[in-house]
This record gives sequence, structure tokens and C-alpha cells, in this order.
Amino acid sequence: MNPIPVNTPLLNGNELKYLTECIETGWISSEGPFISKFEDKLSAYIGRDYGVAVSNGSAALDIAIKALNIGPGDEVIMPTFTIISPAQSVVTAGALPILVDSDPLTWNMDVTQIEAKITSRTKAILVVHIYGLPVDMDPVIEIAKKHKLKIIEDAAEMHGQTYKGKMCGSFGDISIFSFYPNKHITTGEGGMLLCNDKELAERCKRLRNLCFEPNGPRFVHHEIGWNYRMTNLQAALGLAQLEQIDSFIEKKRGIGITYQKGLSVLKDKGYQLPTEKTDFSGNIYWVFGLVAPSETEKKNMVAYLAQHQIGTRPFFWCMHEQPVFQKMGLFKDERYPVAEKLARNGFYLPSGLGLTQNELDCIVNIINEKTI
Ligand SMILES: *Cc1c(COP(=O)(O)O)cnc(C)c1O
Repeated sequence: MNPIPVNTPLLNGNELKYLTECIETGWISSEGPFISKFEDKLSAYIGRDYGVAVSNGSAALDIAIKALNIGPGDEVIMPTFTIISPAQSVVTAGALPILVDSDPLTWNMDVTQIEAKITSRTKAILVVHIYGLPVDMDPVIEIAKKHKLKIIEDAAEMHGQTYKGKMCGSFGDISIFSFYPNKHITTGEGGMLLCNDKELAERCKRLRNLCFEPNGPRFVHHEIGWNYRMTNLQAALGLAQLEQIDSFIEKKRGIGITYQKGLSVLKDKGYQLPTEKTDFSGNIYWVFGLVAPSETEKKNMVAYLAQHQIGTRPFFWCMHEQPVFQKMGLFKDERYPVAEKLARNGFYLPSGLGLTQNELDCIVNIINEKTI
């Protein structure tokens, strides 16, 4: 059997055709025509007025924080169980992440813990939808309204997912996506900011482009930004990928359902499988996560799968336990038991769009062989 990596992308739509067009026309930089096409198509798909394509999802978060004027002295409430990108953006802006624990069933931030964390310095709530189910948005929106807070929505894992029938990435003051190769659509590296506010969108555009003033004299700058531009080559890929998003999502859900059925014996062994649905969404299975009953059991299962050349990836490591943040004196003595257990006992199985039915059956069989 060939090794089964944890992710392989699927690139068999118009990707090559559009990329060839870039090469043949010479439009390869961020000035090319695919950029605005991709921005328009994705924002229309999500139901937002403006899209600003950038070099990756983490860059989008940097821009979102700065565009909303979050900086020194400000606090941003977010989950401790997340990829580092959102926390890093807040910290590098000079602001302070204020953490909340996870919901044990959806693995998303426990929204009932938000309100107690609000202080006079709180500026925003940064929601991160994790692995397959969205954050329960209604309470977040209500709290934000009541306390006049901004909402930043990290929808990097949620392309095409909905919350109560409304697209993820359409909530809050600003939302972001990533197009890294393991996301539902990929541009190799890439990201996008979405919002409904024209001025905010224009500020994001300036921030991605070194704060060149679109109407001012060239090379005269009033603010510091970044070169976070996306290239036409990336946008060409993105456009081709976006054309296929419905079938991609269907395939992801299919993978999830196959694992749910095939791996139900794991439940008897004390494993937690992803929650199939909540009263606001069905799981989109960005990745298929498993929470083992113990750290030892996780280690054994991961090693066993590695022996059979099946790739796995551990769950995120909590922000309050990150050595880099500890060194900065952040989150001292803070404890978030649900998130800590997810981080220690959780891992995910191959879940990429390039996964074949044969590989999927093989993974299910190999896991079942171990458990009997
Ligand atoms: C992937 C991801 C990011 C970062 O995106 P990059 O394009 O890899 O920088 C941010 N947030 C979440 C939730 C992600 O899954």
C-alpha cells in the first residue's frame, strides 16, 4: 500500500487552463485580472459586499486587527483552542488575547464564557470556527451588540459551511478565509478578508499594499502596512477551485460520513468522534478529528497508523500553554480543562479532497483491525 498523507489537494478543474492564461498573457503579479475576479466571486458566494485577497490567512488576520484599530491596551476575547494565527495577530498588534475554554461537543469556543471576560478594555470578540462545526454565533452577536464590541470571524476552515442557513464568513465586522492546500479551496498559499463596509475594505487594501495611497503621490506613506498581496497565479487557482466548491463540500461530508459509520467501534473504546450536527449546522468535516480516551491511547493509535503509513496530525495546542506566550508572561496559571484535554488527546485522520474511496476503506479497515 502507498503512504496516505494527512492531506492531498484536488486540482482537476480549470486550474491548469487559468494558470496557462496567466503565463501566456504575462499577468503573474498582484496586478492581474484574476485577483478582482476571485475577490468578486468569493464575496458573492459568501454574501459579502467586498473581498480583499491577500497572501495567506494569517496575513488576513494581521490586517483585520489593524484595520479595526485594535492595538496597545486593547483586549480581544478568543478561544484558547485554535491555531496560533489569530492570537499572534492580536499579540503583535500590541493587544492582549483574553482566552475562553472550548465546548466539549463542538470543540469551538464556549460562548457562555465570553461575557464574564469583558472589561472596559475589550475591543472585539474573535471567533474561530474549528474543524467542521461553526461557533454558535447568535449569542456572540448579541453580546457584541450589547457591549459595543467588534466581531472578527476566522472562517479559514469553513468555506461553504452555514450557521442557521447563513454562510460562515458573512458574520461580524470582518471575516477571513485561508486558501492553504488543506482548506476546502486552495491557492497554494492565500487568504481573503471579507466585509460589507466600503471604507474598511479600502483600508484593508491599503494595508496589504504597504499603505501606498491609491490617490496620493506615489511613494509617500501615512501609515505602516505590509506587502501581503496575492499574485494573479494564486487567484487563477482560486477561481478554478471556487467553481468546484459545491462538489468539494459534498466530498468532504462524504468522507466524514464514511468515517463516522466505519469507525463507530471506537466509541466503545472511549473515543469521541466529531459531533455530526448541532441545532444550527451539520458537520462539514474540514478534518475528521478523534479524541482518544487518554494521551497514551492517542500515542499508540498514531504510532500504529504511522506503521501502516497513514498520516495523522495532532490537534491544536492551546494558546495558554504556548511556550512563546508563556515567555512573554501571558496566561500565567490560566487553566482551560476542556481545551487541554482536546489538545492532549486529539488528532485527525487523512481528510483531504484528494483522498480516494480505496484509501478511505483501507484506513477504516486498519483501524478496525487494531480495535478487535
Ligand atoms: C489555516 C488557518 C489559518 C491560517 O491560514 P494560513 O493561510 O495558513 O496563514 C488561520 N485560522 C485558522 C482557523 C486556520 O485553520
